[in-house]
Formats: sequence, structure tokens, C-alpha cells
Amino acid sequence: MANSNYEYVKSFEVEDRLMPSTWIVVRIDGCHFHRFSEDHEFDKPNDERALNLMNSCAMAMLEEFPDIVFAYGVSDEYSFILKKTSQLYERRASKILSLTVSFFSSVYGFMWKEFFPNKKLKYPPYFDGRVVCYPSAKILQDYLAWRQVDCHINNQYNTCFWALVKSGKSKMEAHNLLKGTQTQEKNELLFQQFSINYNTLPAMFRKGSCVFKDKVEDIVKFNEDGDPVRRYRKKVIVDHCDIIGKSFWTEHPNILAE
Ligand code: ATP
Ligand code: ATP
Ligand code: MG
Ligand code: MG
Repeated sequence: MANSNYEYVKSFEVEDRLMPSTWIVVRIDGCHFHRFSEDHEFDKPNDERALNLMNSCAMAMLEEFPDIVFAYGVSDEYSFILKKTSQLYERRASKILSLTVSFFSSVYGFMWKEFFPNKKLKYPPYFDGRVVCYPSAKILQDYLAWRQVDCHINNQYNTCFWALVKSGKSKMEAHNLLKGTQTQEKNELLFQQFSINYNTLPAMFRKGSCVFKDKVEDIVKFNEDGDPVRRYRKKVIVDHCDIIGKSFWTEHPNILAE
């Protein structure tokens, strides 16, 4: 039977190319991670192992897809930025989105035991995703600032919430105590009741994680005089930078260079 009898079904596929010359942002988020984190006994409010696992998955993404120039992650979410000129899968949205979500989910399960050696996965973790195009560096930076502000707000709330719960308050009481409080009040509560100075908590908790390629110096050998011979190369790194202010972007002009 000739296959051409059936080929017309292809014509039902719709074109889904993303706008050219725009930064492509794919944001993935863990599905039902509230429950997943409880079922796997994550430390609260921040499980460092889980965050490091998310960061390793993001680093694997940058190694696998060189068009990703930057990634930002917090909690169970990660945003991946593809360069403006990317022609990955002809910029087809469904391809780019499905690859990101499936690769990330798969690496998460694959690397789980490295970060939780004594904890078996009880069921498969999975992620949802969306893709949005941003036409200018300014809007893209605002997008990332929006995610980092969200990280600040949630982390401060969660730090207070769990300090109260661990001190014996019920979840409902903790929730009611915090309702309507401002940043300053939360900082004072942490300091006065729990001697926690919010600003000295780990940067990974307060700022989230940035993944990008940076120049690193390697000592490749030592010459006859015993002096080191250095070489620079690009390496995927994780850092916990402030990306709300302008300074990160002026110090790393290559990341969003057109
Ligand atoms: P949805 O499926 O709609 O995304 P969700 O349960 O995943 O629902 P989110 O709003 O995405 O809800 O929030 C993720 C939740 O996962 C957090 O509220 C927190 O309880 C938990 N979580 C994620 N990462 C960590 C971590 N590193 N340490 C502790 N808890 C975490
Ligand atoms: P793409 O990334 O574009 O999907 P691909 O290499 O996955 O490329 P497909 O057109 O999806 O190519 O075809 C899948 C290929 O995988 C098959 O041609 C076959 O070689 C191999 N394959 C898949 N499943 C099996 C299987 N059960 N046994 C043997 N080979 C398989
Ligand atoms: Mg989630
Ligand atoms: Mg989330």
C-alpha cells in the first residue's frame, strides 16, 4: 500500500515557530512539588540537596544545548534563556519546550541518588513548562528580576513560617501571624524571636541560582622554573548573584551580547 495515501495527515500539523530575533525563555516548574518535597522529607524551608540537584540539572542543560546562554532557578523552577539568534529546531515551540521538560525531568531522576544517596525515589518527579519570547534585553532582565524578587519574597516568608512552626506554632497560627506583615517586620521577627539575621542566610536560599558560562583559569602545567602556565577556558558555573540591579549585566556583557 502506498504511504502517500496517508501523508495528507501531516497537513494537520500547525506551524509553531517562535518569533525570530527574540530571546526565548523556557520556564519549567516541578509538578506537585509541595507534596513531592514532603513525601521525600525535604528540609524546610530550604533543602540544600534538592536545590543542588536542580542546579546540576540546569548545568547539564547548558552542556547539552549550547544555545542556552543563561539560566535562573529557585525552589522547583528554572528559567532557561536561549540566545536571540538561536535556530534550535528551527525555533519550533513544541520541540524546544518538550525537549527542555523531558531532558530536565530525566536528568533529575538520573542524578537523584547522587544528592539523596539514602533516599529512594518513591515515584517519578515531573515538570511542566512554558515558552515566552522577549524582544529586548531590558524586558528580559525585568523578567529575571521578577523571578528573583519572587524568590526573595517567598524565601523570607517561608523562613519565618518554618521558624514559627518549628518553635511549636501550628501551620495555621504561623500563617495568621505573618498575614499582612511587611519585609521589615519579618526581619525583626526573625531577629528578635529566633536570633536569625536574614541577610546572613546562605545566598543560594535568598537569591536563587544563576547558571552561565564564565571564563575560568586553569593551571595546565608548571614550566622549568616552577611557574604555573595558565590557560583560560569557558566553563558552566553556578553562582548566586543579584540580577535585579544592573551591575551583574555590566560585569558580564557577553551573556546577552547580540
Ligand atoms: P504546581 O504543580 O502547581 O507547581 P507545587 O506543589 O509544585 O504545585 P509550587 O508553587 O511550584 O507548588 O511550589 C513548590 C513547592 O515545593 C514549595 O512550596 C515547597 O514546598 C517545595 N519545594 C521545592 N523545592 C524545595 C526545596 N529545595 N526545599 C524545600 N521545599 C521545596
Ligand atoms: P529525532 O531525535 O529527530 O527523533 P531519532 O534518531 O530519534 O531522531 P526517529 O525518527 O525518532 O529518529 O526514529 C527512532 C529510531 O530509533 C529508529 O529509526 C530506530 O533506529 C531506533 N529505535 C527506536 N526504538 C527502537 C527499538 N525498540 N528497537 C530498535 N531500534 C529502535
Ligand atoms: Mg511546582
Ligand atoms: Mg514552583
